[in-house]
Amino acid sequence: MSLLKMAKIYNLANEVLASIFKHLKGLDLGTVAKTCQRFRSAAYIDQIWQHLCERDYGVSSLDQWNVSSFRELYIIVLHKYGCLLGVWKCNINPYGGLVHIKVYPGKIEAVDCRAPFDPDIKRPLRPKVMFDIKVHDGKAAVMCHSDWDNGSHSGNLMIEETGEGKVPQFHLKCDSWSNHEIPSDREEGMGFLRKWLKEEYNNEELLFFQPHMVQLVLMKYVTMHSLHKKPLTFEALDFQQCNRDNPFLTPGVFKGTYSSHGVEMVMITIEDQRIVATKLTGDPNVPAGQVTFDVDLSRPVTDDAQPSAAAGSGQAQEFQIPPAYEARYTDYPHTYLARYHGKGQIASHGFVSPQWTPGHFVLFNDDMFGFLWIELMAFSVYSRTTEPFLR
Ligand SMILES: [Zn+2]
Repeated sequence: MSLLKMAKIYNLANEVLASIFKHLKGLDLGTVAKTCQRFRSAAYIDQIWQHLCERDYGVSSLDQWNVSSFRELYIIVLHKYGCLLGVWKCNINPYGGLVHIKVYPGKIEAVDCRAPFDPDIKRPLRPKVMFDIKVHDGKAAVMCHSDWDNGSHSGNLMIEETGEGKVPQFHLKCDSWSNHEIPSDREEGMGFLRKWLKEEYNNEELLFFQPHMVQLVLMKYVTMHSLHKKPLTFEALDFQQCNRDNPFLTPGVFKGTYSSHGVEMVMITIEDQRIVATKLTGDPNVPAGQVTFDVDLSRPVTDDAQPSAAAGSGQAQEFQIPPAYEARYTDYPHTYLARYHGKGQIASHGFVSPQWTPGHFVLFNDDMFGFLWIELMAFSVYSRTTEPFLR
């Protein structure tokens, strides 16, 4: 910048400088403030910071924030942690997880959005606070809330540097993983187990589970109570593929039945002539992150009896689940719009020897579809999530 221009800027009124500074990024404004006394006083006008808080992070009030200015809020909290706002996948193996991070008055909160109880796929996701960030004594403090005991204790977040082609990631490290451990006292331990069963399965007695489920349930209990021995990793959920409109089916996040594994969440993406469903939450057989089924839209299932009623014609046809098939959820429509060949992924415990097995994708409407696992003789039904942050 020429000296002349500098001199001109220097002579502007504070308010005019402030209105120019509004267009800077928060951090640049901090740098500008350091250049000279004159800029410093203009950069301290809090309306500028209020504007930045609102523009960059949607925060328009200091209500409950425990800070004296928007500048403080921006610098202490939003600039450091604002990049976390959005939807993340959690790497709890094999269960995965979907975490929504949002600003509330006085805090940034991370909520674990769990699938509804089996088999109520039409119900909303079940939120549970995982951690939050508030201001204490002029500093941002991360509090871990995921100890199943409604308490909280301090934690740390490590945010990875972002780079081109790199998926944003962060890690949560709990300062007190002993808070997550199963109590050694028998009575207390049983109390914890019951409480957890109630919260996770809406069923507090292990005796009420089918025998083959008991092992699965206990494994999950142990996994979820030894999580914080090492940091949990979160990875940004890439919604871009979901935002693409598709005339066949709107991509997005769905909740589906997985027989004894309960309700799991999948992300549907559609490319060319393929629908791919990737697990956001998984189970000990096929974990989160794996493809659960893959559909070939160039291969409609044709009805031999009525070849004229070609699948994919857009006309509703009567649907009946084949005899002897198992369906956890039965409240699906009686008619379907289209039916295609696909393949579903199965595996032994621990994702050992994964293999593809034939199936049919059955489209009921834009919010509901099913997958017939032909060899397993089971029918999974999926319903679209209605949470606004997943649309
Ligand atoms: Zn913790």
